[in-house]
Amino acid sequence: MSFLRSSLPYRGREFGLQLLHRIATQGVRSASLLLAICLNSTAQSAEPARAPNVVIIFADDLGYGDLGCYGHPTVRTPNLDKMAAEGMKFTSFYSAAEVCTPSRAALLTGRLPLRTGMCSDTQRVLFPDSVGGLQTTEVTLAKALKAKGYATACVGKWHLGHRPEYLPTRHGFDSYFGIPYSNDMDRVPTKGPKGRAATFDPKSEYWNVPLVRGDKVVERPADQNTLTKRYTEEGVKFIRENKSKPFFLYLAHTMVHVPLFASKDFAGKSPRGIYGDAVEEVDWSAGEVLRALREEKLDANTLVFFTSDNGPWLQFGEHGGSAGPLRDGKGSTWEGGMREPGIAWWPGTVPAGVTTQEMASTMDLYVTAVRLAGGAVPDDRPIDGHDITPLLTGKGKSPRDTMYFYRGTKLFAVRHGPWKAHFITQPAYGKDGPTEHDPPLLYHLGRDPGEKTDVARDNPEVVKRLKEIAATHRAGMKPGELQLEKRVPEKK
Ligand code: MG
Repeated sequence: MSFLRSSLPYRGREFGLQLLHRIATQGVRSASLLLAICLNSTAQSAEPARAPNVVIIFADDLGYGDLGCYGHPTVRTPNLDKMAAEGMKFTSFYSAAEVCTPSRAALLTGRLPLRTGMCSDTQRVLFPDSVGGLQTTEVTLAKALKAKGYATACVGKWHLGHRPEYLPTRHGFDSYFGIPYSNDMDRVPTKGPKGRAATFDPKSEYWNVPLVRGDKVVERPADQNTLTKRYTEEGVKFIRENKSKPFFLYLAHTMVHVPLFASKDFAGKSPRGIYGDAVEEVDWSAGEVLRALREEKLDANTLVFFTSDNGPWLQFGEHGGSAGPLRDGKGSTWEGGMREPGIAWWPGTVPAGVTTQEMASTMDLYVTAVRLAGGAVPDDRPIDGHDITPLLTGKGKSPRDTMYFYRGTKLFAVRHGPWKAHFITQPAYGKDGPTEHDPPLLYHLGRDPGEKTDVARDNPEVVKRLKEIAATHRAGMKPGELQLEKRVPEKK
């Protein structure tokens, strides 16, 4: 039986069960005949299996509580809700950092941001005057998949270095269309209201953000109203044009990062206001991607994963999202800063309608996708991701039992199983500095997902164990050359 389970393809398994039944009821000779038919049929259909396509849809600053299928009462997300109903919804899925640049570096390398140098204690992300970026010695997911013959496209926000040497086309992507950093950068001081007021009634011309195709600026300022729409058209076009070979689409939305924009079909439509408009357009976009995959008959051979780079930007009031029951948001190492909606979809392979509480991370998508493609995960450097294929296919658990929460270069917290210890805490934004905790603050995320009740005093053994895990991790960490601190010197 175990032989049949492990060696026959899906359709063959049905034959296997028939075979056992026939041995039991009609004897070995009759069963042999069926076995011969089965093997012949398998041989005839034995075309080399095509590696699955991979689509990662990466929202920006979307909170854990911002989708209908994650309990939001007024944001309408029928496409993502359907995607979750047809696939797997994660309730313990983590980005690797609490802000954009380090989070994106980790998704695309499977490595903690400190290893790639894509973090800093003084510059949280890359800015238009930054001169650093993701080093081309890193093996991005695009590079690893391209080595296996994949067509690769990056559509949307990059934020891993906007100088030519760091653009997506230098990192394994065949094509790039999007904005190279955040949509609230490059503020034009002479246009619109001063300060944050510009964000609350945004117009594209208030920010001189470039829209890039390949390595050329094709529009500046980018018309942000139509970015989600145009990204979607670009992504769908890429899918249709590459249907005959394996492909990797990295669709990294600019939304729902402030300033918020939506095209005319969505603007002013959501009960949740402009934030809801932007989320609902991202939802529409996901629906268009899945529709294209179905129309091209690629749905049974494509893994689509939807998630976000970090939690909601709560400092922007109604323009920021919601972390639902989780504490705090973007910029913070509390759960709301890094725990994200996570939806996996692959009809026939990812079981439908499953909600999992297993722990997983964006870094795991790297290892999982490379392995599914039959590629090699680099063995000359530490990789922090795990292969979650057994979890995705409903055959096993997640190999991840530990998550590290960094802010810049410092390890602020560690989760191991249901326990999370905070060694350092700091408000997401503002002038208040870090507070060290010894003993650390301890929360049980099963009983207390909102991190409200510190139970360190009652659990000294757990505290000791998490301190050991943190110490071992710190001792083994070799930081990369820090990239975010390299900026154009100020003119005197
Ligand atoms: Mg972000």
